Amino acid sequence: MNMFRRQNSQALRRPAPSAQRPEVQLKSPREIQIMREAGRIVARVHAALREAIHPGVSTLELDSLAVETMSKYNATSCFLGYRGFPAHICASINEELVHGIPKADRVLQEGDIISIDVGVRYRGFIGDSAWTYAVGGISPDAQELMRVTEQGLYEGIDQAHVGKRIVDVSRAVQRYVEAHKMHIVREYTGHGVGRQMHEAPQVLNYESQDPDGQTILRPGLVIALEPMVQLGTWQTRTLRDKWTVISKDHSLTAHFEHTIAITNNGPEILTLP
Ligand code: MG
Ligand code: MG
Repeated sequence: MNMFRRQNSQALRRPAPSAQRPEVQLKSPREIQIMREAGRIVARVHAALREAIHPGVSTLELDSLAVETMSKYNATSCFLGYRGFPAHICASINEELVHGIPKADRVLQEGDIISIDVGVRYRGFIGDSAWTYAVGGISPDAQELMRVTEQGLYEGIDQAHVGKRIVDVSRAVQRYVEAHKMHIVREYTGHGVGRQMHEAPQVLNYESQDPDGQTILRPGLVIALEPMVQLGTWQTRTLRDKWTVISKDHSLTAHFEHTIAITNNGPEILTLP
């Protein structure tokens, strides 16, 4: 699961006193080692899902496969039960952006794109990564959307060096995506991650006055960066199930996310195999 709803614009204009703002929790090398293992498990879950994604497979089957893989490595889903979320992964097809609920009757079809968000808890720490996959052959528009969103993620990661600020990461994502005439979702954001899935700071995918954007990147900061991009509009709406978020104009959406540790040697992607 990706993220908070962004704080409202009032909060953005008037930052809360620092005493009320959640503190950034820097992680020790030992803690980062555990997060590296958690991240590796997330990557293995994604690898299993990637193999399984074909026309005719239901999103509930993908959910079961994800749980099986997590258990094999002694990890659990950190989504199940989170604010009442009823499944182990989020599986969002085409115009569905995030928080899609796996179901037996949601069956993949040739030409779909599916975004899967995987979050695990392992030895007390969280790994969080989302990826968008093609189901068989997809349209050139869908291919370009996926390419730009993934590259937007890497443009952001490239900025994640000690001494820079969160806003430098946010700006790089936005510039890349908007240079390709696509739309960055504003209502959902990346986040710090550690013992909790959602920690400070909030990590927007666009430049703003958000006070969290001024957070200086220091060794031990771990963030989940997760651009969410839509072809037709930045606006979204939530379906009646109270979870599934779709693009307001039903245009295609994509979502790519890695958990990244800031180190003295540069950004380290933790959610890799
Ligand atoms: Mg996330
Ligand atoms: Mg996620």
